Amino acid sequence: MIIYKTKEETELIRESCLLVNNTIAEIAKHLKPGVSTLQLNDLAETYIQDHNATPSFKNYHGFPFACCMSVNDAVVHGYPTNKELTDGDILSVDVGTYKNGYHGDSAYTFALGTIKDEIKKLMRITKESLYKGIEKAIAGNRVGDIAFAIQEYTERQNGYGVVHELVGHGLGKKLHEDPQVPNYGKRGSGTKLQEGLVIAIEPMINLGKRYVYSDKDGWTVRTKDGKPSAHYEHTVCVQKDKADILSSFHAIETAEKANEHLCSDYY
Ligand code: MG
Ligand code: MG
Repeated sequence: MIIYKTKEETELIRESCLLVNNTIAEIAKHLKPGVSTLQLNDLAETYIQDHNATPSFKNYHGFPFACCMSVNDAVVHGYPTNKELTDGDILSVDVGTYKNGYHGDSAYTFALGTIKDEIKKLMRITKESLYKGIEKAIAGNRVGDIAFAIQEYTERQNGYGVVHELVGHGLGKKLHEDPQVPNYGKRGSGTKLQEGLVIAIEPMINLGKRYVYSDKDGWTVRTKDGKPSAHYEHTVCVQKDKADILSSFHAIETAEKANEHLCSDYY
């Protein structure tokens, strides 16, 4: 069942989304070789609580952390660990917050230090594919139009693997609502988009093949071929002519550029 949002509800979701993005920006400020993803998770959790919100992911279906921290071949749902990050790693950070009864959801991939050109390109294309999907999130189109745009750009034009097992989603009072928003599919197929539909669009794109498996921790999803994967996510509200992007990468990109340990010349 699809729940369309009122203007008031959309603003509450925006507030949660912006808190997510400020949380990820806070992580960006502390990212450097030697820091662990568990340390980053803990500072993010404190930041969220200090802003009168709760982390959406904590205890969601038993997930024990505030953030998903997916390093290199980890696609999504990465368990934060004590392992220190090193130069050349990429880290996808996925955060959700719950405030005033509504969830926000967004994700961003960072690169530490010196990064191979092929990985920089993967990050750039994945981020660009997110906006190509968002361009299609307008009333009258269908979910398949978003999916097709992302698959076309990443897989057909750039030869990357598009993960099938995990998808974007509606959100609001619940973290995951209908409809599912896959990153692959046929133009003109699926649920028709109407004004007030709030969805998270989140391409998960692999440098190699699309196939993934679940790590023995039961959560971390990794690429089968061991190659890196990138993940960028915005929450958007479908409108007539142009989607309203409720999350924002502005604070994250500012923090990314200001941090000498991060590579930001990939886009
Ligand atoms: Mg997310
Ligand atoms: Mg999501």
